[in-house]
Amino acid sequence: MPQLAQRVGRAKPSAIMVIAEKARQLKAAGRDIISFSIGVPNFLPGEHVYAAARESLSHDSGQYGSNRGAEALLDAFLKHIEALGFSGYTRMNLSIGIGAKQVLYNLAEALLDEGDEICFAAPYWTSYRDIADIVGAKINVMHCGAEQNYKLAPAQLDAALARKPKVFLFNNPSNPTGMVYTGEEIAALAEVLVKHPDTWVITDDIYNSMVFDGLGYHNFVFAKPELSERVIFVDSVSKTYGMPGWRVGLLAGPEVVAKAITTLNSNHITSLPEVITAAAVAALSGPQDIPKARCAEFAGKRDTVFAALSAIPGVVCPRPQGAFYAFPDVSVAFGKSHHGVKISNDVEFCAALLEAKGVACVPGSAFGEPRALRISYTCPTAQLAPGLERIAEFFAELS
Ligand code: PMP
Repeated sequence: MPQLAQRVGRAKPSAIMVIAEKARQLKAAGRDIISFSIGVPNFLPGEHVYAAARESLSHDSGQYGSNRGAEALLDAFLKHIEALGFSGYTRMNLSIGIGAKQVLYNLAEALLDEGDEICFAAPYWTSYRDIADIVGAKINVMHCGAEQNYKLAPAQLDAALARKPKVFLFNNPSNPTGMVYTGEEIAALAEVLVKHPDTWVITDDIYNSMVFDGLGYHNFVFAKPELSERVIFVDSVSKTYGMPGWRVGLLAGPEVVAKAITTLNSNHITSLPEVITAAAVAALSGPQDIPKARCAEFAGKRDTVFAALSAIPGVVCPRPQGAFYAFPDVSVAFGKSHHGVKISNDVEFCAALLEAKGVACVPGSAFGEPRALRISYTCPTAQLAPGLERIAEFFAELS
């Protein structure tokens, strides 16, 4: 029998999906399950997005579109990033993909040869490791624990960049920690970046509309405009507009990179469908009240989650300031038992919590931090407090 390519052997099914599937099975079996596991925004886009999609269908060309993205989409994205604080970009700096995930995959193909090094901080979004593994890159993880609020320190970055990696991949606000870098913190990291000109910088900032406490969104190029030669900003309509299933990802970066991604697109996806493009244009350029309202809602839920987790003795939860995740360090539970079920690590903790209390969370090891677990708090508000109470009960019952 012929063999699969080696790179497929390096691809692993998502650990997040494994927990979500187990929770679905328990639910189907009649258990009362509260899911804090999947990172979906749990709201739908505005009516103007659906109207634009319907309108587009009424004059659909049925044809292939641009490999870079339709002009209307590129122009809408340009306006969008200008509102975020980027300047000096043209259509030639942009390209598209089937969601930010595919944009990131494409960037890995475009920037990393087999054996090249990529560095990123842990906790990291699971797919960073998987994508890097698939393309055969060497991974250098910069560990950032709860004691440093899960944030990368300039000295850590400096040490990692001294190894001259091909790519530094950065994520702000962070999935899984909900951490947001302040303008000062971004400026301090940008100082380090300018000292290391051999490294591409990818900023995966798809949660940029979900920043709380008035912190604002900051990018390295705001602090050091000369970095725009090397910084690739990745965005998506998934989280901002409640459109994860519509699969639209975008990037803004150096022309040479945007062109490379466009060439890769011409060899696989070709283009985004017309109807999807129309919906994305409407989302990006239409009223922004839905993302604003959701951001306020998530900030309120963050308060509830943070207060509940901080009240559990021994649990350390750096205060999230963006996205819709909390990432408590629950290692105080390791070595204890829950009604006779021994808990020695994060995976056993999450399995026992799901089994005993019907609450699904994702083990931190999926994100490179096995002392923690991820709570995604986009569930209906009515489920939030009961889910958190069950977690507190679980801790209280440990012996
Ligand atoms: N980056 C991060 C940090 C994410 O959390 C996600 C989605 N969970 C993505 C990228 C991919 O998003 P998209 O739906 O646009 O592919």
